[in-house]
Amino acid sequence: MPEYKNTAGRSKNQNANKAFNTIRLALFWAFLIFVGYIVITNLNGNTAKPEERTLTEVLTYAKEEKLEKIEITGNELRVTAKDNTDLPKNIISRKDPSGTLQEQGFADVIEQGKVSVDIKEDTDILGTIMDIALIAIPSLLLVFFLFYMIRQAQNMNNQNMGFGKAKARLYGNEKKKVLFADVAGNEAAKQDLTEIVDFLKNPKKYEKLGAKIPRGVLLAGDPGTGKTLMARAVAGEAGVPFFSISGSEFAEMFVGVGASRVRDLFAKAKKNAPSIIFIDEIDAVAHKRDARGGAGREDEQTLNQILVEMDGFDNDTGVIVMAATNRVDMLDKALLRPGRFDRHVNVTLPERKDRVDILKVHFKNKPVADDVDLDALAAKTAGSSGADLANIANEAAISAARNNRKQVTNADVTEAFERVAIGPERKSKVMNDQERKITAYHEAGHAIVGHVLPDSDPVHKVTIIPRGRTGGVTWFLPPEDRSYKSVYELKDVLARAMGGRVAERMILGADGITTGASSDLQHVAELAREMVSKEGMGSKLRDQVFNTDEVNFFGDRAKIYSEKTSEIIDAEIEALSKEANVRAEAVLKANKKYLDELAAALLEKETLEEKEVAAILKGTSLPAAAKLHD
Ligand code: ADP
Ligand code: MG
Ligand code: ZN
Repeated sequence: MPEYKNTAGRSKNQNANKAFNTIRLALFWAFLIFVGYIVITNLNGNTAKPEERTLTEVLTYAKEEKLEKIEITGNELRVTAKDNTDLPKNIISRKDPSGTLQEQGFADVIEQGKVSVDIKEDTDILGTIMDIALIAIPSLLLVFFLFYMIRQAQNMNNQNMGFGKAKARLYGNEKKKVLFADVAGNEAAKQDLTEIVDFLKNPKKYEKLGAKIPRGVLLAGDPGTGKTLMARAVAGEAGVPFFSISGSEFAEMFVGVGASRVRDLFAKAKKNAPSIIFIDEIDAVAHKRDARGGAGREDEQTLNQILVEMDGFDNDTGVIVMAATNRVDMLDKALLRPGRFDRHVNVTLPERKDRVDILKVHFKNKPVADDVDLDALAAKTAGSSGADLANIANEAAISAARNNRKQVTNADVTEAFERVAIGPERKSKVMNDQERKITAYHEAGHAIVGHVLPDSDPVHKVTIIPRGRTGGVTWFLPPEDRSYKSVYELKDVLARAMGGRVAERMILGADGITTGASSDLQHVAELAREMVSKEGMGSKLRDQVFNTDEVNFFGDRAKIYSEKTSEIIDAEIEALSKEANVRAEAVLKANKKYLDELAAALLEKETLEEKEVAAILKGTSLPAAAKLHD
C-alpha cells in the first residue's frame, strides 16, 4: 500500500533533515561561543598586551615613581605605568603568596605615596570562568551531540520502524469506523469474515464450547481489491482496536528492530484484547526462505518472531492476526501451517454487479448529473479493481471541478475512465500530418479487424488523440464479464492486435512500418506464449502445460521441460503470431475501401464512438482466409 510506504519514506527524510539541522545548530552555537570568548577576553584585559617583570623590578620602578597604580588580585599584580616613562603601559608580576605586598618591600613606597595599591578582593571570576569554559564547552558539546545522535537514532526506530509506541496505528473508535457496508461486493469474503467478527464480539461463547479459536486470517487477492479496507471493516464491525503495520516497513528497519517491534505490537494487542493485529503486505517479510534473494537474516528474524508470538497464543488470548498479500505463492510455507495463518479469505476482482456497487459507494457523496450511467461504466471496466474504480470516481469529481461544474457529468466520468485506463490526454503533443495519417490507418486497422472477426468483442471507440504513452487507442468492450475464453476468441484478439501493424504495411510498404506497433507486438507475444504454455492451446502441444513458475535454487524461473519441448513451444508461438498476421491482412485487404474511409473519418473527427464506427463499417465482409469456423 502506497499509503504506508509514503509515510515511512517521508518520516525517514524528516529525520535525516532533523539530524542535519541539529548538527548545524550545534556548530553554530559552538562558533558563537568561541567568538564570544575571544571578544570578552580582549575587552576584559587592557588593549595593550602586558609584559611580565619580576617583583624586584616592579619595586625599582615604584621607587623611581614611574608607576601609577598596582592592582593586586590574589598573588597577581597588574601594574600600570605612568605615561611619560620608558616602561610598557601594562606590566604583570606576582608576589610571594606567603605575605602581603608591604611585607615584601613595598611598605615604604606605599607609605610615601609613590604608587597607589588597590587590592581586589575577588579573584578574576570572568577569566576563571572563561578558563573553565574553554575546556568544558567543547566537552559538553561533544557529550550533548552524542546524546542527541543516540536519541535521534532511537526516534528513527520508533517512527520508521513501524509499531513502536510512536507509530502503532490504532484504528479504534477515534478514527472513522469502516464497516462491511463500506466494502461493496466480495460477499463471499465478507461471509467468511463474519465469523471472525462474531468471535471478537463474544469470545466467551466460543471458549465455553471449547471451540478452537482462529488465530490468523490471510486475505489474499490482487492489489486494490480492498484487502486493507476489509481488515479495517472487521475491526469496525467488531468494535475492537486495530493495530496495523505494513510488511514493507520492516524492510527499512535497523538490524534487530523488526523482531522487537513485533514483540511490542503483540504485547500491545494482547493488553487491548480482544483486538486485531493487521500485517499488510506480509509477503515483504515472509517470502520463501529457501530461494536465493529470499528473506535476509533480518526478515527471517522478523518472520520468526511473528510465528513465535502466534504460537504463544492461548485459546483465550483474544487477538486475531490478519494479514494481506497479493502473492500467496511467495509466502513461506511455515506461515500457512495450522495454528498460524490457516484461514484463507480470497478477495477477488469485482464482477460487473459488484463494480456497480463499488461505484455507488464512491459516488455516494458526489453530486451526480442525470446523464451519468454507472451501469455503463461498470460494463466497460471489466478487470478493474475497487481501487481503480475509486480512482475513477475521484478523477471524475476532479474533472467536474476543473470545468467549474456543480455536478459530475457523463463527460467527466468518461474522461476519468480513459485517464485512469491509459493516462491523461495529451492534446499538446503535436503530431505532424504524416504521423496523424499513420496513426489513423493503424487504429482503423485494429478497429476493422476487430469488427469483422466474429469472435472479437465489438469496437467501442477509436481515437487518434494521444493519451498516456499511446499515439491513439482502439477500445473493444466485452459485452459482459466472462471468466473463460475460447481459442477462437483469443486468436481474434491476436489478429486484431496485429491489425495496426498490417494496416501500416499496406499503406507504407514493408519497410515503411513504424515503431508505433511495439506494444501491440508485445501483447501478441505474451498472449501467444500464455496460450501455448499455460492454457494448453498450442496445435501440437494441445492440452499440455509447461510451467515456468517454479523458482529454482538460484532464484531463476526453472524450465521444467526439455530443450526439444522448448523449441516446439517457440514454433507454436511463431505459428500463432503468423496466423494472426495473415488473418489481419486478409480482413484488411478484403475491406480496403473501409480502411480508407475509417482512416479519413478519424483524421477529420479524431474520435469515433461505437455507433459511428458501426455505421462506417456497415457492409464489411469476412474473407475465407480469415475464417476459423462456420
Ligand atoms: P488492497 O489492500 O487490496 O490493495 P485497499 O483496501 O487498500 O486494497 O483498497 C484501496 C481503496 O480502493 C480503498 O480505500 C477503497 O477506496 C477502494 N476499494 C477497494 N475495494 C473496494 C470495495 N470492495 N468497495 C469499496 N471500495 C473499495
Ligand atoms: Mg492494502
Ligand atoms: Zn496499435
